[in-house]
Amino acid sequence: MIEVLSVTSELFPLIKTGGLADVAGALPGALAPEGVHVRTLVPGYPAVRSALEKPRIVARIDDLMGGPAVLLAAGKVAGSLDLIVIDAPHLYDRPGNPYLAPDGSDWPDNTERFAALSLVAAMIGQGLVAGYRVDVVHGHDWQAGLAPAYLALSGKPRPASVMTVHNIAFQGQAPATMLDALRLPAHSFDVNGVEYYGGIGALKAGLHYADRITTVSPTYAEEILTPDFGMGLDGLLRARRADLVGIVNGIDDAVWNPATDRSLAATYDARTLERRAKNRLAVQKRMGIDADPDAPLFCAVTRLTWQKGMDLLFEALPQLVEMGGQFVLLGAGDPALESGFTAATVHHAGRVGCIMGYDEPLSHLLQGGCDAILIPSRFEPCGLTQLYGLRYGCVPVVARTGGLADTVIDANDAALADGVGTGVQLSPVNVDSLVSAIARTVRLHRDRDTFRALQQRGMSREVSWKRPAHRYAALYADAIRAARKAG
Ligand code: ADP
Repeated sequence: MIEVLSVTSELFPLIKTGGLADVAGALPGALAPEGVHVRTLVPGYPAVRSALEKPRIVARIDDLMGGPAVLLAAGKVAGSLDLIVIDAPHLYDRPGNPYLAPDGSDWPDNTERFAALSLVAAMIGQGLVAGYRVDVVHGHDWQAGLAPAYLALSGKPRPASVMTVHNIAFQGQAPATMLDALRLPAHSFDVNGVEYYGGIGALKAGLHYADRITTVSPTYAEEILTPDFGMGLDGLLRARRADLVGIVNGIDDAVWNPATDRSLAATYDARTLERRAKNRLAVQKRMGIDADPDAPLFCAVTRLTWQKGMDLLFEALPQLVEMGGQFVLLGAGDPALESGFTAATVHHAGRVGCIMGYDEPLSHLLQGGCDAILIPSRFEPCGLTQLYGLRYGCVPVVARTGGLADTVIDANDAALADGVGTGVQLSPVNVDSLVSAIARTVRLHRDRDTFRALQQRGMSREVSWKRPAHRYAALYADAIRAARKAG
């Protein structure tokens, strides 16, 4: 049995702002059949502390970076996740978003809050909790980036360390003057250490010190080696190329199952696709567009940001409508995009519908009723909505980047002849190629048999956590070997 301590600032179903929470929440269960036992170290936010079942105090830290004494509580959540929670009210007793104050700005002490998470991870990794031996400390994103550094810099025997990048755009930069406060030795302030552009880089430190590095798709693993995608860390990653692997995320196929999904007007499977018509009608009604039974119906379920290419989609809308298509949007974000899409519902009344906001059940209904989902992201480490689209027969139309490139097979003529296409890819990511991809989807949709086969192939793809979990298990074994060699 390999013992892994997963270190994360978010964890589904307790606290979530993005895909990181889903991965941290799903991996432990998926790894159990692989002979890997995971305990998850999380900050004691109110939502975490109140969810912890039968907590036991397993350690006390009198001086955690100069603050008051801190307790570690162990327990289960939702009957299955095994947690260690840092009970440090001065750092984590703040409701709502884990990173942002109520006014929407970062908490001013985020550096200390997540350095503390990382330091506690290293202490547990080196024997703080009696009777608990850790083989691998697995840190997620910059919030856990200093954990591999604390381990490596301790000078004591240590477990292996793995660092996973979910989005390299977030890096956790702190001023050099904090070195002492963060309990980092002076000699670590070096290009071969925690130093990053004149300050302390938490993600940089993790990428430098971890035995192995992963990211959430093989293509993103290649992309972040380039200046365009590496956001300043590409040089370091190129140097560590041999230790970097990309593992695509899975999805929870119990929550996302069209045969049992309670958010749908009609459940269905690959043999009963005609039942999707009922969902389609429900979508059209809910989004206030014509109950057109034949138009190719496109959707997007997304944050409205530059990363997601929603400005391109906005520009492509008139052509989509001209081709006879309909479009519905569920999203929130950039105010300019929100008002643009809202105006489009008036300009293209009956053909374009929008709901601005976050609505989990509606996101299921759109996947279950629309013909295709548009995902023209400029970069996408993994992406989940294309995986839901595959599982629901909502054909993904995606930018050829990151995890989108790795999970959707373009239904070009050759692929169709071989019976392998599952969606439509577009490249480069601009308005012209997005319009071409939409036109290609409209043509595919006209040929009902071809389109149905496309949907069915997507639905038969393996998108669960099974395969990714197997790869993580192999990676842990590899990291343990590497750490032994290094130690
Ligand atoms: P990212 O994490 O970059 O936002 P992903 O595709 O990895 O993108 O994950 C987005 C997740 O959030 C998916 O589960 C998607 O269904 C969900 N989502 C995004 N926007 C909305 C929304 N407005 N309403 C409901 N769910 C949404």
